[in-house]
Amino acid sequence: HMSKKLGQNFLIDDNVVDGIVSAAKVAEGDTVLEIGPGIGTLTQGLAEAGAHVTAVELDRRLLDVLGKTLDGYDNVKVVHGDILKIDISQEINKEKYKVVANLPYYITTPIIMKLLEDRLPIELLVTMVQKEVAERMAAKPGGKEYGALSVAVQYYTEPEIMFIVPPKAFIPAPAVESAVIRCTVRTEPPVKLESEKMFFRVVKAAFAQRRKTLANTLKAGGLEKELLNQVLAQAGIDGMRRGEQLSIEEFAAIANAWTNLK
Ligand code: SAM
Repeated sequence: HMSKKLGQNFLIDDNVVDGIVSAAKVAEGDTVLEIGPGIGTLTQGLAEAGAHVTAVELDRRLLDVLGKTLDGYDNVKVVHGDILKIDISQEINKEKYKVVANLPYYITTPIIMKLLEDRLPIELLVTMVQKEVAERMAAKPGGKEYGALSVAVQYYTEPEIMFIVPPKAFIPAPAVESAVIRCTVRTEPPVKLESEKMFFRVVKAAFAQRRKTLANTLKAGGLEKELLNQVLAQAGIDGMRRGEQLSIEEFAAIANAWTNLK
């Protein structure tokens, strides 16, 4: 019955379900968007905690069993559809809500990034991801896990790895270890909206050529030498450093200076 293509590994460990519900700090009356409820294990945990849950499931074949699992809860609404295609604002009409998801690992990151880029009124996201992906999302500058994904996630949120989940918590068991990560959405982004494009341009350039100096990567990224020196001086950043070691705040300082001097 389970679909490999849809990456269906269902949670069977109640402790993990409880862990996710507390990671999301679910309180009575909260609104939660659950993506990919599967057979409803987590949905039930969220509903028991008193949340108003909107659960979006792509696989039509699961709707029956989902309906049975969730029968008797008046605080759950199941929506059949693809989270990347439906209009979420049509389904949830709230000023703030939380997102909880245990999705197929290959689409988790694109889905999280899309929700963040769309600037939906999301307070926090709690998701299950492959352990290595969680480490990259939460990585601090300097280490080998730190990369464009870390910066992209940390631009919008403050990620925290909550706990590690072994393969045996799922049926069927995946080949990899998993982790639950909580991303608390920043109320203020690190740069002004007008510098946002620049921010991601700088980040892209910095990580395109690891081990090169920041100055060289930015030159390769199209910043001409004179302006580059002014930008770095105004941002107060040494161009001889390696771009891949800059923090979000330092990337933001460069993007702001570049916008100012352009
Ligand atoms: N959350 C459940 C659990 O923890 O047991 C199910 C986990 S399973 C890894 C992922 C679920 O996401 C599947 O039920 C799958 O059909 C659903 N899914 C996959 N892609 C989706 C999409 N684009 N939109 C909504 N649901 C999706």
